[in-house]
Amino acid sequence: MRIQPAARKQTVEDVDVAGKRVLVRVDFNVPMAPETTRISDDSRIRESLPTIRYLRERQARVILCCHFGRPKGRVVEEMRLAPVRKRLGELLELDVLDAAGPGGGEPASRTMGMGPGDVALLENLRFDRREEANDDGFARELASLADIYINDAFGTAHRAHASTVGVAQHLPAVAGMLMARELEMLGAAIASPLSPVVAIVGGAKVSDKIAVLENLARNVDRVLIGGGMVAAFARAFGHSGGAGDSTPEDVAAARALLGDSPAEILVPPDVVTGRAFAPDTPAVVRKLDDIPDSELILDIGPEACGAFADAISDARTIIWNGPPGVFEWEAFSGGTKAVANAVASNESATSIVGGGSTAEAVRAFGVDHLISHVSTGGGASLEFLEGKTLPGVAALLDK
Ligand code: AMP
Repeated sequence: MRIQPAARKQTVEDVDVAGKRVLVRVDFNVPMAPETTRISDDSRIRESLPTIRYLRERQARVILCCHFGRPKGRVVEEMRLAPVRKRLGELLELDVLDAAGPGGGEPASRTMGMGPGDVALLENLRFDRREEANDDGFARELASLADIYINDAFGTAHRAHASTVGVAQHLPAVAGMLMARELEMLGAAIASPLSPVVAIVGGAKVSDKIAVLENLARNVDRVLIGGGMVAAFARAFGHSGGAGDSTPEDVAAARALLGDSPAEILVPPDVVTGRAFAPDTPAVVRKLDDIPDSELILDIGPEACGAFADAISDARTIIWNGPPGVFEWEAFSGGTKAVANAVASNESATSIVGGGSTAEAVRAFGVDHLISHVSTGGGASLEFLEGKTLPGVAALLDK
């Protein structure tokens, strides 16, 4: 890869926060156990604690803001932040003030009486459609609450929204500790990556990932394909089976990648299928060219696991985003486990794992401590590694 590292950015340690009102954009978009409001993995909340504690130690008034889920500009009861506020309060051992906002109470009056070291959380910013529209009026409303703006939400830095970009036009804007660490670790990985560079791309969001693949294939030596995208590649080979949500455009993109890509593209020779998208659907190992139309591809197969492990074993730089299978379900977790183990056992490679569910997978398989850097950003880490300018990073003050 030949990518220029981004300009170095000022951090919370470069500004005087003592006693100030500080608006912090955090990434509390935590996974919930299906059909509940129980947080299944609170890592994203924990990762914001160093910045929050740093500010509290300096008597700052800490006003946190974030999004949760995709409510698309309206109030969705199940996407309220009350469970997140409660968990944050437990971790900090204090009452986190409900600063309301988007659709609820008036944040200015709710945060007015905050004392030194107090912490408040605004309601889900995406309840207000002006957030994703990067509306300047909304950005000004957010900015009016504080003296300084800190972005600690690397995971949303690739989106130009009011709370990631707009607000930074109206306040001194710097990186939080988590954001600073991400920029440093990912920056080091692309400054002078050792070859072979191997990318593993899986996960569910097929169209998003195909776009990412098109960029990665120009910059890395080898790309291993997993997840929902496998069906698009199967179709590109002319095999009909494996229902899925790949569009004709995805299949065309897969065909183009197979046809002329500077990188070697490894498509799994076999897969594990199921009749339904359900944990108890019987799992069947099938060759890629032998999948009935009625079956879904839910994991890569044993032969693919071996081929992927070989491809990973001699890599010197590994970029992994998206689990190759539905690892949350035992019967379809084999591919993700094999990749996690292969990445973890290659001690001579720099390994970068990105994306909420991929980070969750390496933790679930107990290998997170063997990964060079587990990024909190999915799309953001990929775009950064592709050398794209992340608008939320560009908006921060240079060193
Ligand atoms: P993403 O956020 O796009 O990285 O998607 C992560 C999710 O993709 C995980 O929860 C996996 O269960 C899911 N996943 C992995 N492989 C597949 C597949 N073949 N079909 C559907 N979902 C998958």
